[in-house]
Amino acid sequence: MREAFDPHSNDNALFVTSRCNNRCLMCCQPPQADPDAEHLFAHNVRLLQSAPPDLPVLGITGGEPTLLGERLVALLEEAHRRLPHTAFHLLSNGRAFSDAAFVRRVCRAAGDNLFVGIPLHSDYAGDHDLIAGCRGAYEETLTGLYNLADAGVEIELRVVVNRLNYARLPRMADFIFKYLPFVGWTALMAMERTGLSVPNEAQVWAEPRQYAPQLRQAVLSLAGWGMGVAVYNVPLCLLPRDCWPYAKQSISDWKTAFAPRCEACRTQAQCCGLFSTSIRPFEGITPILEP
Ligand code: SF4
Repeated sequence: MREAFDPHSNDNALFVTSRCNNRCLMCCQPPQADPDAEHLFAHNVRLLQSAPPDLPVLGITGGEPTLLGERLVALLEEAHRRLPHTAFHLLSNGRAFSDAAFVRRVCRAAGDNLFVGIPLHSDYAGDHDLIAGCRGAYEETLTGLYNLADAGVEIELRVVVNRLNYARLPRMADFIFKYLPFVGWTALMAMERTGLSVPNEAQVWAEPRQYAPQLRQAVLSLAGWGMGVAVYNVPLCLLPRDCWPYAKQSISDWKTAFAPRCEACRTQAQCCGLFSTSIRPFEGITPILEP
């Protein structure tokens, strides 16, 4: 739990609950059953009192923040009152946004300074629900995406690439272009080797070099169609060169690490690095020696 804001960090966030109504097979922070929301609500309201007024972005994360219901609305109201110029980056599975009235209350509370990161695990409902660990999740998430778009909320669509969905990445790109053209950008993300991806390794784990061809096709298709696209968490040495322009330094600064061999790499300053929280680094990390 965060005790203070760091104005130099790229990852200031309010952690609002450890509960979740999904059970994603590769969740890096497995949900807890504890009813901790009230305690965290009071903590976060106190924390907001010391927030730097020029904070550009504040994350709202969990667990699943929308499980707070009206307490999330109240927290956003307080956050917007304290930080009227700050954008709020809410990470959610999107299911609660299938209620359009709730979307409107959340938007109003955030003063319309809201963008929402929502994972889509597949264009195929059966795969999405399997990966999310919840039957019916796909339908609610899709409805939520449309409701958010209707309310004018900027959407970051998040695709966590794994063994169950990487073969369909090119088809997912088609699907996003045809049916979700309103998203601000699609982030294709490598997994963190921690949390549930460890016990579920045989079912979900995939190495970036395994899915590089499908990732490349999806990235270049989306970009070619004029859609916003980004690659998160894939080191440059594991990413096809024509995808480098879309790679972001996406890993929170407090959990970014580099391998000893990265010292010889010419692209370290541009690379997202590795998760210090992963139990093993990705396979195939190789310093780039030529420009
Ligand atoms: S060798 Fe290290 S710094 Fe270079 S691209 Fe790979 S992970 Fe990044």
